[in-house]
Amino acid sequence: MKRRAAASCHRASSPSPFAQHGERAGVRGCVLRRWQPHPSSGLRPPSPLAPRREKARRAASAWSVIALAFAALLAASASAQTHATNEFLHVQRGELPILITAPHGGSLAIPGVPRRVGPEGERTSGKFVTGQDVRTFELATATAKRVEEITGKKPYLVASKAHRQYVDPNRPEKEAVEHPKAAAVHAAFHGQVREFVDELRKKFPQGALLLDIHGQASFPDTLIRGTQNGTTVMRVVEKHGVAALTGEASILGFMAGKGVKVEPPNTPPGTPPEPRGFSGGWIVRSYGSHTTNGVDAIQLEFGGSFRTDAAKREETAKLLAEAIKAYAKKYLAK
Ligand SMILES: [Zn+2]
Repeated sequence: MKRRAAASCHRASSPSPFAQHGERAGVRGCVLRRWQPHPSSGLRPPSPLAPRREKARRAASAWSVIALAFAALLAASASAQTHATNEFLHVQRGELPILITAPHGGSLAIPGVPRRVGPEGERTSGKFVTGQDVRTFELATATAKRVEEITGKKPYLVASKAHRQYVDPNRPEKEAVEHPKAAAVHAAFHGQVREFVDELRKKFPQGALLLDIHGQASFPDTLIRGTQNGTTVMRVVEKHGVAALTGEASILGFMAGKGVKVEPPNTPPGTPPEPRGFSGGWIVRSYGSHTTNGVDAIQLEFGGSFRTDAAKREETAKLLAEAIKAYAKKYLAK
């Protein structure tokens, strides 16, 4: 059953959050490709060269700067094309320290790629899931739009358009794909997220937040939090205390304050633990602030009542956007 299958969308084996380093190898190690001026430029002593030679040297130097800038522009453009023009990704470069991801809301088949069949033993155990998180693509894009409306600035956004039957961006590649063309979509998704996370860390040293949007079918009226029990938001909790995860200006605290049923309740992380199977998947475990090059990351699993009906979905997007605004003001301003 499709809905039932979607309920267990993150029922991957959940290894200890402290044993992730080897697993992350596939999506880490991405380096900034942009050209950087040499730190010593502009600080050179006066040239001892004769005036004519000095003029020629300056002209050559100016050309080399232009050439380098042009090369950097080409590299940036090639990089943007690699990810942004991928037809299976919806990408928005933002202006706020917020990145919204949605790996499971896509509907497109990848031409020439058969549906995944999964490892033999996992087809019956419920661990292997190919069901769509219904309308989470729409919820993620609507939320991004609402954030822009109420703040005047865009959040970052990466949403998969490919159906989970062909690729699962919330799994490491070896579990996510069964065909090279699907592997390219998986790599493009993570290349784009990595690039944005690197950019966020550089542009917003005070902190940034990744919200990974999902849908679960086990508890229709509940919003489930997945942070590996506080691990993937380690940085903001160290800086501002657990209120940043559970207080009234936290994402979950704000939603609860507006009448949304959240699970676990906004008690200190681990008491009680986040529900089994929804405690944070590959994305938050790969890019969370417990990693050396991550940002604070929360997986949000919305029950069906928040997202299947169009009017309710708009309400959810509006509420989440308000929560993002409140959180950014309190925890990301400085
Ligand atoms: Zn999901």
